[in-house]
Amino acid sequence: MIIKQLPTIFEPARPVLQKIEAAGYEAYFVGGCVRDTILHDPIHDIDIATSAYPSEIKSIFKRTVDTGIEHGTVMILDHGTGYETTTFRTESGYQDYRRPDSVTFVRSLSEDLQRRDFTINALALKENGEVVDLFDGLGDLKRRLIRAVGDPNERFHEDALRMMRAVRFASKLDFTIDQPTLTGIKENAPLLAKIAVERIRVEFEKLLLGQNPVAGLKDFIATGLYRYCPGMATAGQQLTALLVLNQWQLENEAQVWATVCLQLGITDRPAVNKFLKQWKTANDLIAQVNKIIPAVQAFHQGQVTPNLLFKTGWQALADANQVAKLYGWAIQDEQLQEEYAKLPIKNGKELAINGGMLIKQANIKPGPLMGKLINQLTFAVVNGDLPNEAEVLLDTARQMAKEG
Ligand code: ATP
Ligand code: MG
Repeated sequence: MIIKQLPTIFEPARPVLQKIEAAGYEAYFVGGCVRDTILHDPIHDIDIATSAYPSEIKSIFKRTVDTGIEHGTVMILDHGTGYETTTFRTESGYQDYRRPDSVTFVRSLSEDLQRRDFTINALALKENGEVVDLFDGLGDLKRRLIRAVGDPNERFHEDALRMMRAVRFASKLDFTIDQPTLTGIKENAPLLAKIAVERIRVEFEKLLLGQNPVAGLKDFIATGLYRYCPGMATAGQQLTALLVLNQWQLENEAQVWATVCLQLGITDRPAVNKFLKQWKTANDLIAQVNKIIPAVQAFHQGQVTPNLLFKTGWQALADANQVAKLYGWAIQDEQLQEEYAKLPIKNGKELAINGGMLIKQANIKPGPLMGKLINQLTFAVVNGDLPNEAEVLLDTARQMAKEG
């Protein structure tokens, strides 16, 4: 197969490949960028593989950075945008089910393609548009199949993360997993326990953010992979209930985790914290999920009060509504925007008074009581019970302090 017109994203990278070839080596675009080109999907990053060793790449180009030289990766900066090139390599060992014991640089493209996970990810593209397809990846792209390169059992033993990658590509691309590959996942699912949670998390998030999350989830459940994910060992039933939902349009990780928590009945703050810490998510994501969950519950119960809008804040409200869409509990986006816009204040800083003013002008001592007072005033302003005017708020504060 020859691709006559490469997507424009490749244009600035072509001189890099040409230069490597002119020096007597081979160089190809490889991996996801080739797959996505053929699928006419958006391409986000370009990977280049070459027969030249890292030292040889560094002698061909003037400006390079050793970004992962022990794996053969060098970043070339000569042509403006940085391009990462990785020397063809084979991997061997894999005694821990996740990493090769040793990496060997080789001169042959075919050995490099052989170590790749799925046939659709093992395509190489020459700078002139020629596609190298050693494992019928093109046929699998047509059949929309995810198929391991070689023996699935062996490949999942080498690196158990590939099983999660299979289910995430099923969702991301809306492809089917080839039967022997699926059987291989079923048989080796327990090996997932050997993989770092952070790496599993990335694939799981991509699964729920893909084109067809139901397809990916179905395989994630049927193969038993979920049993080896944090906090999900016994969640088969709750996860299965997700398969009947058909309005998937999650947009970010916070929405993903809010959905998962809600689905697993993990809704109170300590439980959410514990669950997400097991998944090793970032603290700001945990905070965001803790805002989203009560908002989704409020949408469900039709209790969207000004106070809830205020406490949740716009970003978490938008996230919550996106999650609520999945369950059919959402509010019209425009209506939500309007109701939010109507809030007299959007955050505490917009309140017409502050602690300093309460001390000076209302003779209130700093401390927990003052904090409470400010909260009550904020609540009253948000609800429209008091205008956001300093004099009125100070008067009210004086009175409240008098009454204790
Ligand atoms: P995405 O569009 O999500 O980036 P991708 O196919 O580019 O998809 P990457 O994780 O960026 O996925 O990996 C780039 C390439 O490296 C893959 O296409 C595949 O050829 C190879 N690869 C990545 N991870 C593995 C793995 N665990 N085992 C074997 N090959 C892998
Ligand atoms: Mg990629």
